[in-house]
Amino acid sequence: MKIVMLGAPGAGKGTQAKKIAEKYGVPHISTGDIFRANIKNNTELGKKAKEFMDQGLLVPDELTLDLIMDRFKQDDCKNGYVLDGFPRTIPQAEALTKALTEAGEKLDYAINVEVPDENIVTRMSGRRACIACGGTYHIVFNPTKQEGVCDACGGGLVLRDDDKPETVAKRLTVYHDQTSPLIAYYKGQGILKDVDGTKDVAEVFNDIVGILG
Ligand code: ADP
Ligand code: AMP
Repeated sequence: MKIVMLGAPGAGKGTQAKKIAEKYGVPHISTGDIFRANIKNNTELGKKAKEFMDQGLLVPDELTLDLIMDRFKQDDCKNGYVLDGFPRTIPQAEALTKALTEAGEKLDYAINVEVPDENIVTRMSGRRACIACGGTYHIVFNPTKQEGVCDACGGGLVLRDDDKPETVAKRLTVYHDQTSPLIAYYKGQGILKDVDGTKDVAEVFNDIVGILG
């Protein structure tokens, strides 16, 4: 099963992608998580990516494509994957289509998690991310059992630098300009499925399972 998650930053792509990965036994691949791991490890890629991420801008396609094509070569991708945060531009989507076509493969679904902009700032300012495992929580909508501690691995939680309100506004503009055209792109491929992302986490997941079967 090969799935792409679409939606604005903070729509709940990562939250749902983790649940899909667990239920259907495919890896959850988040380009954002991979960039953040590189930043944490102070790699050359991490240093380059950080310049863009901190400003709410996209990392250039070339860097992102090298990274994801490399990830697809790993063994765990044999039975598919759920992509979260990739593709984010039309050239990225075209590169993915080309790579899949050349391998005789195709995507099954593009799940578009719809959440209006006015809900996004509340979602992002309350988001807390685990620095160790990438787990994502919300101080009101999805709190951890113990404040500031990841339920999954016991790691410490942080407010991401790019979740500050001024950066979130920039990321939303970038989303509308560069990423939202992917909705029409995947509609054209006949694989787009919209879900209402304003419902609670369990209900959104239920709707997604209704689509994936
Ligand atoms: P994305 O991966 O699309 O950027 P996340 O999955 O990280 O978004 O979700 C953004 C924030 O909103 C997180 O704090 C998450 O816990 C919270 N969240 C996710 N889904 C919902 C939902 N259906 N209702 C309320 N809050 C949610
Ligand atoms: P995310 O964790 O998906 O919210 O991504 C955080 C940031 O990483 C984004 O704001 C971008 O700067 C960068 N990023 C993640 N995925 C991509 C991508 N596919 N293309 C370009 N930049 C990306």
